[in-house]
Amino acid sequence: MKIVLPDSSELELPDGATGIEAARAIGPKLAEQAVLVRVNGATRDLRLPLADGESVRFLTTRDTQDPDALYVLRHSTAHLLAEAVMRLYPGVKIAIGPPIADGFYYDFEFTEPISEDDLAAIEHEIRREIEDGRVWTREELSLEDAVGRFEAESQPYKVELARDAEGTISLYTQGDFTDLCRGPHLQDTSPIKALKLTSLAGAYWRGDERNTQLTRIYGTAFYSQADLDAHLERLEQARARDHRRLGVQLDLFHFDEHSPGSPLWHPKGMVVWNALEDLRRRENARRGYLEVKTPLIYDKALWITSGHWEKFRENMFLIEEEGKTWGLKPMNCPGHMLLFGSQLRSYRDLPIRYAESSTLHRNELAGTLHGLLRVRHVTQDDSHIFGTREQIEDEIFGCLDYAAYLYDLFGMDCRFELSTRPENKLGTDEEWDFTEGALQSALERRGLAYELNEGDGAFYGPKIDLHMTDVLGRSWQMGTIQLDSQMPARFGLSYMGPDNREHTPYVVHRALLGALERFAGILIEHVGGEFPFWLAPVQARVLPVGESHRGAARTLQARLVGEGYRADVDERDETVGKRIRDAELEKIPFVLVYGDRESDVALAVRERGAGQSTVSLDELLGRFTELAAEADPSP
Ligand SMILES: [Zn+2]
Ligand SMILES: [Zn+2]
Repeated sequence: MKIVLPDSSELELPDGATGIEAARAIGPKLAEQAVLVRVNGATRDLRLPLADGESVRFLTTRDTQDPDALYVLRHSTAHLLAEAVMRLYPGVKIAIGPPIADGFYYDFEFTEPISEDDLAAIEHEIRREIEDGRVWTREELSLEDAVGRFEAESQPYKVELARDAEGTISLYTQGDFTDLCRGPHLQDTSPIKALKLTSLAGAYWRGDERNTQLTRIYGTAFYSQADLDAHLERLEQARARDHRRLGVQLDLFHFDEHSPGSPLWHPKGMVVWNALEDLRRRENARRGYLEVKTPLIYDKALWITSGHWEKFRENMFLIEEEGKTWGLKPMNCPGHMLLFGSQLRSYRDLPIRYAESSTLHRNELAGTLHGLLRVRHVTQDDSHIFGTREQIEDEIFGCLDYAAYLYDLFGMDCRFELSTRPENKLGTDEEWDFTEGALQSALERRGLAYELNEGDGAFYGPKIDLHMTDVLGRSWQMGTIQLDSQMPARFGLSYMGPDNREHTPYVVHRALLGALERFAGILIEHVGGEFPFWLAPVQARVLPVGESHRGAARTLQARLVGEGYRADVDERDETVGKRIRDAELEKIPFVLVYGDRESDVALAVRERGAGQSTVSLDELLGRFTELAAEADPSP
């Protein structure tokens, strides 16, 4: 038989040759370094046979960043973890141990609880296994043999997994440990150059809380120590930037068990919040949006008309009152439909762009709530644009331009994804050709690169999702721009066209920053709590050196406040050094130390990230003006 190599050359092999045999035929070095074979795009264990005509690519210990190569390395390390745990904790029951995005885990049922302190000893035992060296062997067996084997070993989870297995049942063995496993696995432990057990968590068997709670041990592994170090460094940075931690440190917000998923904003957090609101209002006014305000509660009949009762009821908070069922709004759309429908509309009135950032409530499951990133109390920078068919492209263009402006303002890289007609679409293919085409040409006209998600649109229309990548390389979905002709029709909306006939308008649902709570959370992490000057809750702090300087310090603060800046005075009986450090922890952009030598012509100024200098008050105000202008870079 013949297989095809990446350079398109063909390799002649005996029928039924395995991956590792093919690697050996190419060269001993490759055979030694190979960890996995990719066949027609899918991964396969090196021990399995290849078939005639297959295109083959070997992954080796040099593919240190390849997700598949990392996957096999980490999966193999998970097996080493299970071997170590079985040796150290006789009687332990083993469940599953898959690789995950940044590492792996294995679930165990221990006879006695273990703690994070025990991880070091387990990790040590894995290292000993690697030093000794382990080779993996693979065997296949029947269902009865597999069940019999794990019953004899008193491993009930494995028995259950074997009974559920589809196709061939395979076992992988290293040392004295055998696991039920589909593979693939490394040939031996030599490629595992760095590993770390990272944490411990509870996890229910099969994710079902009615089942036994198991202990999940998380870990990770790499092809080099340098890669592991870089990974741990990234984790540490992410921890230091965690918005929940910074929210406390910077006194921005907190959560209370009496209203899960709903932040309580502190005065300093409110400054940031209001700055985002001001930005939204300013740009809306510039871009021809009209601010509106619609009710928080509507009766069930409205939600039936809008379609939310059918599609979204599970996520709504409902209230029984006056013998009726009412729902707290999870979205603004229905209110804006009522507004549009409240008057006769002509094509000359269009487009109409309603904007509202009122409070929405979504009943997210308690277990999915996560700081500001997933909340029940949601405030979107929401808008609904009503327009004619001919206006769609320009309106989408306007939304994209607005989004690009906002993301640029916060120094965020934005990615756009265009989602097209799904299988359960409403409307004809001609209609979808038109609407998808309009979104596509708007993207191209604005010069934005985008990815295509075929079949991922909503059933009522195509959409563009906005994603940003933060400083740590993590990707977040932020806003969305969705085209819809269904909801206006459900509400019976129309406008009089130039032909003197009634037409149904299109509506664009769009939120650009998305949920402001979530945006604030991502922004806090993106800037690591160091808000740009225009967003900083306290922009300048004055520190009087001694008691006798307090009067002058307060005068200086009043002067800055009078100029429109947020300034305070720290008069506590602490040393100047301690007060400077506290201001640094609060990440305040400017700290002014005021003592005997200071005056309006000579101020001791520490600018965040720039060190100390002596400037006059006028120079300082000049610098403030310059920085404040960053809030509004448009011409
Ligand atoms: Zn496995
Ligand atoms: Zn909407």
